[in-house]
Amino acid sequence: MKTRWRNLPPLLLLWSVAANALDAVDTTQSQAMIDFLDVCHDGTVPPAALEKVMGLPGTQLIVAQQNNSRRITPVQYRATLVSACRGEIPHLQPSEPGTRAEKGVEGLIGDVAPSLLWGRDHVAFLRQRLAAVKETQGLDEIVPLALQNLPEKVALSPRLYFVMGGRAGAAAIDNAIYIDLLSDAWRTREKNTPMIPQEIIEFFAHETHHLGYGEILERRKQSLRLAGGREQAWNFLASLLMEGSATLLVSAHGNWAELEKQDHIQPDLARLPQLLPKAQSLLRLTMNGRMSEQEHQAAVSDFFGEGYHATGACLLNVILEAQGKRGVFRVMRDPGKFLTVYNLCAAKINQPFRFDSRLATDLEHRLDRVDYSR
Ligand SMILES: [Zn+2]
Repeated sequence: MKTRWRNLPPLLLLWSVAANALDAVDTTQSQAMIDFLDVCHDGTVPPAALEKVMGLPGTQLIVAQQNNSRRITPVQYRATLVSACRGEIPHLQPSEPGTRAEKGVEGLIGDVAPSLLWGRDHVAFLRQRLAAVKETQGLDEIVPLALQNLPEKVALSPRLYFVMGGRAGAAAIDNAIYIDLLSDAWRTREKNTPMIPQEIIEFFAHETHHLGYGEILERRKQSLRLAGGREQAWNFLASLLMEGSATLLVSAHGNWAELEKQDHIQPDLARLPQLLPKAQSLLRLTMNGRMSEQEHQAAVSDFFGEGYHATGACLLNVILEAQGKRGVFRVMRDPGKFLTVYNLCAAKINQPFRFDSRLATDLEHRLDRVDYSR
């Protein structure tokens, strides 16, 4: 990477730096959604406004997010918009047999439709909200904040969006990151505490960090040719490191006390006494090759919500205290060393929880070299 930069003529170099700077968030979809909801008041569905919303990349991201672990179709999403326009919750059938499609319909009926109905009654508020977030300062801090917390330099140029009408408050899909202003406003309507500018910047930086770290981890994983239990163990450690590092270093600025103050993670921090031993038994079973994919999926579901975030941040914080960022970067580069380095640091600063040393050494040895038997 360094050589490539050095060989660039000065003008091109300048252009590359500028290409990394983020100076705008795409707000087209939010604007189109507000305009759609605004003309819905008499209950007639405006076809042109509907088609405009459906055709925008922001809406495609919203639909894609609901297809991560659930299943919905653009036709179902369109039907949800049409019903909301008439002031009704849609009647939808799952698009295919199975839990994913059932969960998809649940999300549209339980989250998306009610927030759209609320939005239809609060168009002026949404216009104000969009105008306010358009003024968000500090977008140029996003990429540097992500980069300074990564163990290697990578090229980062995420596309940022403010959208409305999705199920999640925010999401990252490939190179696109969105914040859903309607979902955020609807979920915080009682206290009227939508995201403040600093939270917007930190959220975008957290997700940008994922993009960069994901690339670093994937490169390393490919070089190790992992499979079976070794791959399951790697994926689990990688998820802990992914969410733990972004949560502790980016969202909480490397400060545990600051992390503890953040409301959203508190229920999962309270689960740490259970999550730490669960992480150990999960890793032990995968390394013994005694977990089917189905059992593995069931075990990792304990870490959904913000379980990965809380567990990863807790372990990394011990390393940060004992060895500083250098130690954190070392395990981020080499997930196989996570447990051994943690144990060393925990001993140094008298943290009571330790991983079984045989398991830690086994992971270090078997996740650190190419398995040529394959
Ligand atoms: Zn995250």
